[in-house]
Amino acid sequence: MVKKILIANRGEIALRIIRACRELGIETVAVYSKADELSLHTRFADEAICIGPNESSKSYLNIPSILAAAELTDSDAIHPGYGFLAESSKFASICKENNIKFIGSDAEIINMMGNKSFAKDTMKKVGVPVIPGSDGNVNTYEEAKFLCTSIGYPVIIKAVSGGGGKGMRLVKDESQLEKLFNMAKIEAEAAFSDSNVYIEKYLDKPRHIEIQILCDNFGNIIPLGERECSLQRRHQKILEESPSCIMTDSLREKLYNSSIKACKAVSYVGAGTIEYLVDSEFNYYFMEMNTRIQVEHPVTELVLGIDLIKNQILSHNDIPLPDFMHNIKLRGHAIECRINAEDPYNSFMPSPGEITTFHMPGGNGIRVDTHIYSGYKVPPYYDSMIAKLIVSAPTRQEAISRMLGALNECVIEGIKTTIPFLKEILSNPDFIKGSIHTSFIDEMMS
Ligand code: ADP
Repeated sequence: MVKKILIANRGEIALRIIRACRELGIETVAVYSKADELSLHTRFADEAICIGPNESSKSYLNIPSILAAAELTDSDAIHPGYGFLAESSKFASICKENNIKFIGSDAEIINMMGNKSFAKDTMKKVGVPVIPGSDGNVNTYEEAKFLCTSIGYPVIIKAVSGGGGKGMRLVKDESQLEKLFNMAKIEAEAAFSDSNVYIEKYLDKPRHIEIQILCDNFGNIIPLGERECSLQRRHQKILEESPSCIMTDSLREKLYNSSIKACKAVSYVGAGTIEYLVDSEFNYYFMEMNTRIQVEHPVTELVLGIDLIKNQILSHNDIPLPDFMHNIKLRGHAIECRINAEDPYNSFMPSPGEITTFHMPGGNGIRVDTHIYSGYKVPPYYDSMIAKLIVSAPTRQEAISRMLGALNECVIEGIKTTIPFLKEILSNPDFIKGSIHTSFIDEMMS
């Protein structure tokens, strides 16, 4: 078992990992940029070490600096959290070369799943349904035109190395194709240093439903319920729930079977998520596999009563997953709201600055994961998520009213946040009915 874990991340997830390590008796090292000197993760870890200036490229993405910190502190493992280096095959292999355990996937698996078009092909080969589209990359406009005529418009052009909702272009008809195809390639190169794109059929108002998986080194592949993440703005999730209100035993079984096939195809170990789109006829299609812990993991923890991060760490330490997980049942309903430092009524413009007053809700079934406090200055350099509010209750309806009550108790003054917008969603009659899809927020705002 590892003795000391360096957490190569910041914010709420760094704190979340520190807490899991503490319960496992593992020491922790926080790394921080200059801007994060006063963030809670630097105070709650056993040790903290500055790895560079404000910009992520010079700190949280700076591999030599992070490795130097690991060596200096005698850390025997690194947990990358999500984002930053969590899905960097280069980082995973450098950790291995330096004899530091990477609490994440092997470089080969990250590469296989990180190329979204290659991942789709791998899944197709093992019988997991995929969205109709190109076989691999589409290199020229002529190729794109031929393909789109055969699959039919609308289509979506996606960057093979894309992520975070970036690098996607919706093409409604052929007249838009040439321009958008060229733009997508230029954007993909700029954002991901890889201009390769692939194309697939654009599904009309699907739901985004994903399966949480934990795998160990002893052949256990355990699907742990689903999360519905259909509420998105600019293809980025804003509110997630578990279970999905359209889930049936038979659909869940099909999603589980496909997810097990996906994990077997790549000999997966650790925590992972298989993302699917589900259409109005309950057909489901593999979209991508995330080889890391996800932002929305707490909703799964609340409906299953387990700790995903502790189990992720244990499975990377060759400890088998507990037997009870094979028969675990989802209980009740959980919802997560992402509280971002953004102005929801001004194109979700980032709103960094000092938090002058801060109060978080409490009570039965309420969890807050955050690194902020009164007087904390939200830096402008990183992702705008400042807190996650998660509730659980026996039913979806009770979870919605519990969440509304909790959001009403939240006080974050000095900056703008998504709280008023989240309250609007939770009061929306269609949301309450469970009639949601991935374009729900766009339609709500138009
Ligand atoms: P990223 O890795 O950047 O998050 P994903 O491939 O996971 O990108 O897609 C993010 C979101 O984009 C999905 O949840 C969905 O809302 C939308 N999307 C992606 N592919 C399609 C598609 N073929 N049809 C309709 N919506 C799509």
